[in-house]
Amino acid sequence: MSETPIKCNVSPAPELCTGCGLCADLCPTQAIKITWSNEGFLIPTINREQCINCGKCLNKCIALEQTTKKQDGKPMRVCAGWSKDSDSLKASSSGGIFAALAKMILKQGGCVFGVAWKDTLNAHFIKAENEQELLPLLGSKYVQAHTQGIYKSVKRELESGRAVLFSGTPCQVHALRTFLTKEYANLFTVDIVCHGVPSHLLIEKYYEYCNKGESTLVNIHFRSKTRGWQSFHVQRTYENGKKSLHPIYEDPYMRMFLSDRILNKSCYKCQYLSHPREGDITLGDFWGVEKYHSDWPIENGISAILANSPKGISLLDMLSMSMNLYDEPYEHLIPHQGGFQRHLELPKDRSNILKRLQQEALEKTIVYTCDWVKIGPFMKINRQWRIYKWLRQLKRWLKK
Ligand SMILES: Cc1cc2nc3c(=O)[nH]c(=O)nc-3n(C[C@H](O)[C@H](O)[C@H](O)COP(=O)(O)OP(=O)(O)OC[C@H]3O[C@@H](n4cnc5c(N)ncnc54)[C@H](O)[C@@H]3O)c2cc1C
Ligand code: SF4
Ligand code: SF4
Ligand code: SF4
Repeated sequence: MSETPIKCNVSPAPELCTGCGLCADLCPTQAIKITWSNEGFLIPTINREQCINCGKCLNKCIALEQTTKKQDGKPMRVCAGWSKDSDSLKASSSGGIFAALAKMILKQGGCVFGVAWKDTLNAHFIKAENEQELLPLLGSKYVQAHTQGIYKSVKRELESGRAVLFSGTPCQVHALRTFLTKEYANLFTVDIVCHGVPSHLLIEKYYEYCNKGESTLVNIHFRSKTRGWQSFHVQRTYENGKKSLHPIYEDPYMRMFLSDRILNKSCYKCQYLSHPREGDITLGDFWGVEKYHSDWPIENGISAILANSPKGISLLDMLSMSMNLYDEPYEHLIPHQGGFQRHLELPKDRSNILKRLQQEALEKTIVYTCDWVKIGPFMKINRQWRIYKWLRQLKRWLKK
């Protein structure tokens, strides 16, 4: 059996592949599997013996599309908001808007598609039919999620006439729309603000790092609000029931992820940042909102909610019962929200870091990657040095 990554000689698709999995769902002979590349990103692999050369995979590939999208639009409505349901607010990363939208669709007899952990290392799309099944979908899993089979499954539900809510990264929402080829009145889509997905090597190494103690890591909650939304912590849960909380600047996973050095290559050229965005609704964190509303319950999480279509506007109208929802100027969002507009530069040391991750312990790669801080045009200082700690203390003291 011969299996090779899809090669395309008319366009740089491998460089731009988002790992959306659309080609696998389109393939009529199931010749395409989505697997991890050596660098830790989802890529299609084709079984040549099963391929009948129909061309569907390349014709529809979202990375090969000629984009004619306008780059300067604005959302139709921008709101800040948070859920009135304190349990879902606590379990969600931001203001719990996804949970509120999902419950609304479930109440109408519809179903919800989103991302849940499959095991400690892998996240994948699943369908929720009720509020119990919705719980694993809440909260951000900062990994690249597997989509295989999901676009077909969404289509089946739509064709049966049920209301469907689909939530994912903008490239996944775009892949779904491409798969469907026509508009469905019963489809509602949410895209999350997304600055990129990190290599899977990171979570593999993190797993090793966390498992050095007496018990095995069984769950990671990347956005625990135990100490508040703004100073969110990573919560690790172990098989023996023990839990530990880690500030993001001390947690090696979040430090590496937020350094933006080992994201998927396509994320540095993301085609889905501009308006109109892919989802009827876009959800993100409303960082910086306390500057305008110091009396809001900021510590529980505030979402930025963008309506991008008439459907999005009507969803927002319906949400006003279960949410605290306030219109906000778009300009309040932008200064603190790079994920909406900014293209990240491909880091020069990206492949080197990925190689290091394959070969050494995460602690070592972190020291190399994240511990050196520029303090002048020609000077770098290491975070582990005592002088750096003194300088930070001095800065804090001067601020007071
Ligand atoms: C990889 C990634 C990068 C992000 N980057 C930013 C950013 O730069 N700025 C920002 O403001 N917000 C970012 N977010 C979004 C943010 O973390 C919240 O998910 C969003 O604000 C929705 O919050 P919520 O409280 O409404 O719902 P939550 O319950 O927190 O969100 C759950 C929803 O997120 C989806 N989801 C979770 N993990 C994944 C995943 N791996 N892939 C696809 N969908 C997933 C689920 O399907 C579900 O619909 C990012 C999320 C992810 C997954
Ligand atoms: S050309 Fe057709 S059969 Fe071959 S892998 Fe692509 S979609 Fe599948
Ligand atoms: S359809 Fe998606 S997964 Fe397949 S090659 Fe194109 S971008 Fe990659
Ligand atoms: S940054 Fe763009 S390409 Fe990368 S996962 Fe997010 S939406 Fe997809």
